[in-house]
Amino acid sequence: MPRHADCKICTMLETAPPENLVLDGEHWGVVAMREAAGVLMVFTRDHDQGVGSISDAAAAGFGPLIKTLSAGLSASGFEKTSVISLGDNAVHTHFMLVGRKPADAPIFDNTPLMARLACKEGERARAVAGRLRDGLKNSGLTA
Ligand SMILES: [Zn+2]
Repeated sequence: MPRHADCKICTMLETAPPENLVLDGEHWGVVAMREAAGVLMVFTRDHDQGVGSISDAAAAGFGPLIKTLSAGLSASGFEKTSVISLGDNAVHTHFMLVGRKPADAPIFDNTPLMARLACKEGERARAVAGRLRDGLKNSGLTA
């Protein structure tokens, strides 16, 4: 894949110290973030337009990758793994995996999310859910 000189994620992958590089794969890359134990940046190797545009191969690998990384964090003493999607500011689909140690407070305060849930867009919410159901039926997914 061509590297874009001004791409922060390509540059991060190329300049990551070997001890911070977790995966330099064909479809996904994973870099441990600096000095923060249990914090990983997971990103597509392709430049894409966000999670809806990732390659089929990247999509197929996503679940097993996240599960394996989370199990690895668990084996390293983290009791929960949060997946934070960061899709708006780079040309790679990317996520942060953040392990939570037993004594740590939960990473998220649900207040901003709950405020969103308080809006009254029921008709639109049901229409979006219907389109998603139709899309899943047409995809052949049965999970
Ligand atoms: Zn890049």
